[in-house]
Amino acid sequence: MTFARPPCYIHYIVKKSEQTSTESRMSPKIKFIFITGGVLSSLGKGLAAASIGALLESRGLRITIQKLDPYINVDPGTMNPFQHGEVFVTDDGAETDLDLGHYERYTRARLDRNSNYTTGRIYYSVITKERRGEYLGGTVQVIPHITDEIKQSILAVAHDVDVVIVEIGGTVGDIEGLPFLEAIRQFKQDVGKENVLYIHLTYVPYIKAAGEVKTKPTQHSVKELREIGIQPDILLCRTEQFLTGDLKAKIALFCNVEEDAVITAKDVESIYEVPCVFHKEGLDDKIIEKLNIWTRAPRLKDWEDLVHRLKHPEFTVRIAIVGKYVGLKESYKSLNEALVHGGLANRASVDLVYIRSDEVGEDDLKDSLADVDGILVPGGFGARGIEGKIAAIRYARENKIPFFGICLGMQLAVVEFARNAAGLSGAHSTEFNTQTPYPVIYLMKEWYDFRTRQVQVRDEDSQKGGTMRLGAYPCRLANDSLALAAYHTGEISERHRHRYEFNNLYREVLEKNGVRVTGLSPDGELVEIIEIPDHPWFLACQFHPEFKSRPMSPHPLFGAFIKAALEQRQVVAERQKKAVGK
Ligand code: GLN
Repeated sequence: MTFARPPCYIHYIVKKSEQTSTESRMSPKIKFIFITGGVLSSLGKGLAAASIGALLESRGLRITIQKLDPYINVDPGTMNPFQHGEVFVTDDGAETDLDLGHYERYTRARLDRNSNYTTGRIYYSVITKERRGEYLGGTVQVIPHITDEIKQSILAVAHDVDVVIVEIGGTVGDIEGLPFLEAIRQFKQDVGKENVLYIHLTYVPYIKAAGEVKTKPTQHSVKELREIGIQPDILLCRTEQFLTGDLKAKIALFCNVEEDAVITAKDVESIYEVPCVFHKEGLDDKIIEKLNIWTRAPRLKDWEDLVHRLKHPEFTVRIAIVGKYVGLKESYKSLNEALVHGGLANRASVDLVYIRSDEVGEDDLKDSLADVDGILVPGGFGARGIEGKIAAIRYARENKIPFFGICLGMQLAVVEFARNAAGLSGAHSTEFNTQTPYPVIYLMKEWYDFRTRQVQVRDEDSQKGGTMRLGAYPCRLANDSLALAAYHTGEISERHRHRYEFNNLYREVLEKNGVRVTGLSPDGELVEIIEIPDHPWFLACQFHPEFKSRPMSPHPLFGAFIKAALEQRQVVAERQKKAVGK
């Protein structure tokens, strides 16, 4: 019996009506790199994918990166940050996996909703087609329908680039990852073996008791991959120490890869060292050799300089982050990185002090804030810890400590000012108190959406998924503001993820008492930035600037906040010196 192979993979997986558009977008030269992970999670697959992207860009290639996540949620938007870490937001308003944040920080790739697919989204699409009768009475199955849908979603990002890097979430061996692995196995058949490379990230533990490095977990995870038909071309071995030649030879032999395709992915001090470390191990050379691509030599000077600056700061600054999710650093991934970038802009290393707003009483809070140079209240949802955050904002405002509020941080800065400086006792956001006498932050029922160019309508009963103001929105800055001084331009665009807004009914009374609105939507209706002029640096924004900060180009607001905190540190030091002198 013979199986007829489809003449061309595009005909195989693209519906007839869609063929022309996909075919014309799809350059025959596009190469695909699939990155899988083995042994255990949290080995840094996302960083590895981002670093590979950076290395290929440094050789002059145009790349994009996509993440395929095996969980059933349609997107991570409704997931608890404690479980899943931060939700990263793209310009087009997609709520995505936090690895996309790494991809954007490390590369020039601008990602969108096609850059992250989940099992839920794939099934949603297949089931919708089934309900529409598009499968013409056929039995809808994992193979080929789900796998075709997955391949289709990979092709959706395969345009205007030389290389598509696809990271498969989860660990090889998980049940839910199987359709993705099957799809990428088939993909090689479809596009030709010369166009596909499989990279597997695995763990090579050092067992103290035996004084030895162990390769068995790696052997097993590669065996598992090979059982489903994928032979990895390159192994990235996460270890504490460099692997010796002997060990590499052993792994190569057992896993059926070339010896120089066994790469040590050694633990590093800073995540920004990874591209240079991979390069020294010969990873990018091996990738282009295997994919048969000709490129210029890599230019890694920017990355080397960056690492040098990170390791040799001239100053230190202490910043308190007062939030609910501080126990889990993954929940504030982009924020933490943006603060590091803000430090880089000022040749400073940033010490972060995490304060759990739901656990500290007012006195403890004051103690913990006594020796910080700046206070930041980040975004968040839910009532827990709200009063702690408001107390921290009050402390920053009254003690003239540089303050940066982000999203919920801005909303609470408005609440705090309304209550304690504008005489609106009991003011609140209706997210936390629907009966407040002064709803200074509320659900705007109708507003003009500059991104979709439509009037949006919503109320308390709107469904939770996808009903927020999401993605990039334009904002105009006021003259003589901290914001304008930081951005050096009057028109900016920043990413949002929130449901509630500043209530314009209270703009006048707040302004009269000392708040300045310095960032507004182009129609003047949505308040995007507030400042308190009678303060060294007090700025709060409705958007999430952290999503657009890069190590090579730190976000202006983070740069300005850290600068203000450094100045504060100097002021305090001088005050102390004088006190000792007396
Ligand atoms: N919970 C607030 C809102 O929905 C703030 C959200 C956030 O900080 N991202 O508007």
